[in-house]
Amino acid sequence: MLQGLSVSPGIAVGRAVIIRFGGLPSFRRAVEPEELDREERRLRRAATKAAEDFARHSREARDDQIGSELSAILEAHGLIAEDETFIGAIVGRIRSERVNAEWALAEVARELGEKLAAADSAAMREREADLTDVAREIGAHLTGGDRPLPSELPRGSILVADELSPVDAARLDPRRVRALALERGGPTSHASIIARSFGLPAVVGIPDLCEQVSPEVPIVVDGDNGIVEPHPTKDQIRRSLRRISEERERMRRLRVRAAKAAVTKDGVRIAVRANLELPEEIAALEKFRAEGIGLFRSEFLYLRALPLSPGLQEQRKAYETLLEAAEPHPVVIRTYDLGGEKGIGPAPGENPALGLRGLRYCLAHPDLFLEQLTALCLASRKGKLRILLPMVTSLSELKAARRLLEKAAARSGVPRTPELGVMIEVPSAALLADQLASEADFFSIGTNDLAQYGLAVDRANPDVSSLYRPLHPAILRMIRFVVDAGEAHGRPVSVCGELAGDPIGAAVLVGLGISDLSVTPVAIPEVKEILSSIEAGRVRELAREALEASEASEVERLFETKLGGNA
Ligand code: PEP
Ligand code: MG
Repeated sequence: MLQGLSVSPGIAVGRAVIIRFGGLPSFRRAVEPEELDREERRLRRAATKAAEDFARHSREARDDQIGSELSAILEAHGLIAEDETFIGAIVGRIRSERVNAEWALAEVARELGEKLAAADSAAMREREADLTDVAREIGAHLTGGDRPLPSELPRGSILVADELSPVDAARLDPRRVRALALERGGPTSHASIIARSFGLPAVVGIPDLCEQVSPEVPIVVDGDNGIVEPHPTKDQIRRSLRRISEERERMRRLRVRAAKAAVTKDGVRIAVRANLELPEEIAALEKFRAEGIGLFRSEFLYLRALPLSPGLQEQRKAYETLLEAAEPHPVVIRTYDLGGEKGIGPAPGENPALGLRGLRYCLAHPDLFLEQLTALCLASRKGKLRILLPMVTSLSELKAARRLLEKAAARSGVPRTPELGVMIEVPSAALLADQLASEADFFSIGTNDLAQYGLAVDRANPDVSSLYRPLHPAILRMIRFVVDAGEAHGRPVSVCGELAGDPIGAAVLVGLGISDLSVTPVAIPEVKEILSSIEAGRVRELAREALEASEASEVERLFETKLGGNA
């Protein structure tokens, strides 16, 4: 039994498919002298194929305005794959150490990578990531095939991997995968968010997991308890299957009850909307009776289309699909939250969370941003669209975004610009909410990042996951400040971070004066259940006490004990 962190509930039994996305194929095999020529040929063939792949992707990306940057990167990758100094060094290693091509490639790439990472110049350091990418592509050809694609897993698989980047997570096909088990990640890392959106049980944070699971063998992933059973007995499998059918029945009953709107016992109506990442998830709106979409993470459209870009018309179509599906409810579409850990940039050694991310990235790439805003304006005729800006830290950024939105509206000939809101997910935005209110039409509090930045705890790092506590009183005080600022200036305030999908978290938020929550769709029934069982007056009293607490644990205990068996 392997204990990890539970990040998406449910239990699954399925065959393990093990993929190392991050590392290089690095098994070592001794090679006989007469096999050395063959190893060299294998390596050169793989390198040529990798170079051809890069050249093709680069050509495909070139015609596209967003892709031009990407095209240049891919072209450079192709040149590295054919570079004789690099390839010659690997061949030298094969011959001098009499090892297989995979091992020699991994060793040479690692040594060169270390040298580049230690270089003084930032440009040289950036080459390290390029080199790793190239080595991975050559490695994939050596081991027979393309880079592993999560969309092509056999049906009924459980994906066991070292990590899952947002790009790979966006390519998961939930009809093929039953669960995820990862070595790295945290509750609010994007692989975990996607797993919850697709309703896939997931466990993360198990070091050396890939070594402990055997490929193609049935395993159990228990997302309720954060457990992976790599070699289950027949009895364990039987019990797990029974729990799966009980859980299905429980969800069915909850869904029936959740058909009604959430109203607290003392009559306060709370809107419960859905957080979605991809248009394919819209079936969840009906299934879980969501009151529209409170957060659409549009960057996943972009990440999924890489190395191409989704383009104006494809985006417009995707946004229209969402608006039509949500009618008569509103749809909040967040503009690209790219950069940082979401797969574009940063250079090695830079902190992804504090770099060119979210609105900063879009303002630095105005063509990309304007294209998205134009697609949004064009789609806005189809329903109640609200546009949300991620990672805002100052009023000037918001003003710059509004200017571009006005330009996009004029370009697309819409009579009115859609409402423009600000994500409150950085302490500076929370503490300036009263000033941002002059330019923002609404606020949506992103507790995932607000906790990350407010508590200085990396949301995806399992080493500090015990410190990641969105119910920390400092975070609650910021939320309270935003609610007050919204009220004073007549700006609606909602919450779209994962805290809203947690039963205790939802109760605390209502206590702080929030009446609009957006959560991962599978959490909707449970959240509605708890909201209908509490009194808003009572949780307001508790929230007042919570604001005076000094530790997250006090807040958690306070609500758990005082709400009785309700949460
Ligand atoms: C948040 O930060 O709370 C949020 C909803 O955005 P994301 O999880 O995509 O960063
Ligand atoms: Mg965020």
